[in-house]
Amino acid sequence: MNKNYWLSLSKQVINGYRLSKEEALSILTSPDNEIEYLLEAAEEIRYHFFGNKVRIHVLKNAKSGKCPEDCKFCSQSIRFNTAIPTYDLETIEEIVSSAEKAYENGAYTYCIVTATRGPNTKVLQTVTKAAEIIKQKYPTKKICASLGLLKEGQAEKLKESGVDRYNHNLESSESFYSNVCTTHSWQDRLKTVLRAKKAGLEICCGGIIGMGEEIVDRVYLALSLSKLNVESIPVNFLDPRPGTPLDTLPLVEEEVALKTLILFRFTNPKADIRASAGREKVFNKRRTDIIKVATSIFSSGYLTTCGNPIEKDIDNLTKSGFEIVV
Ligand code: SF4
Repeated sequence: MNKNYWLSLSKQVINGYRLSKEEALSILTSPDNEIEYLLEAAEEIRYHFFGNKVRIHVLKNAKSGKCPEDCKFCSQSIRFNTAIPTYDLETIEEIVSSAEKAYENGAYTYCIVTATRGPNTKVLQTVTKAAEIIKQKYPTKKICASLGLLKEGQAEKLKESGVDRYNHNLESSESFYSNVCTTHSWQDRLKTVLRAKKAGLEICCGGIIGMGEEIVDRVYLALSLSKLNVESIPVNFLDPRPGTPLDTLPLVEEEVALKTLILFRFTNPKADIRASAGREKVFNKRRTDIIKVATSIFSSGYLTTCGNPIEKDIDNLTKSGFEIVV
């Protein structure tokens, strides 16, 4: 395809056109010498809907490790021999104090995460109480919760407490998911996303690239998220964690990772797409291209791995002409 083809497709997307599976796949199969055209076209979409704005998200691992689930990519599962720090649920005060630090340092979204199959009463009470306090102090900032599979009624409690958004990733295509997890299904995950949506929560839902899936699985994930109209999409690149069953897989190649971000932008033009875990390892010479497609980043590290300090990320972004939304 030539430059005009991709630019014309981006214009159609801006005007409401939704890509077919074949068109979406053609982004991933395009030759590397077209990547500059693709990038320019994706940038058009990004700037049309978001201008030069960037949002910073900070994660809070409020309960680490000992998760009963068997997600093969995750170092927090109790089933794998991983050397991560494990701790029980933090107190309300600890969760609130980390929120204060995150927002004061420039974060727009603070995401409270627990390594759990789903929230029990204690987790739900602690997180909702913390959210109430945080929302009172920072009414214009976003609070996201990521507590696992939700039962009937739990999403409503989170919404009432001031939580704005629920994160629950579909991770990959439906057909591939059973290769990386057996303790719950892709449909279980979808059910939770729908429950959160029904309760009026915004949805943060994305996945992980590089778990051994085919490229078409990435397309199916992107199209599923488009169908769900999710507000926020974390795109993670597998950072193989020692001790997990996927620890021998290679990192995704940089050009492949960039094309994948472009795929998500073309298929989910209005979503806040976030280059997430793995970005620091996967991207090298194309590091500055990430944010031409994505609209937010996680800063200050991930759940069990380190990332860039928030000051460094803010400095790099503002020097490159982006405006940080606070
Ligand atoms: S449910 Fe979440 S924390 Fe638990 S093993 Fe799976 S990804 Fe890890």
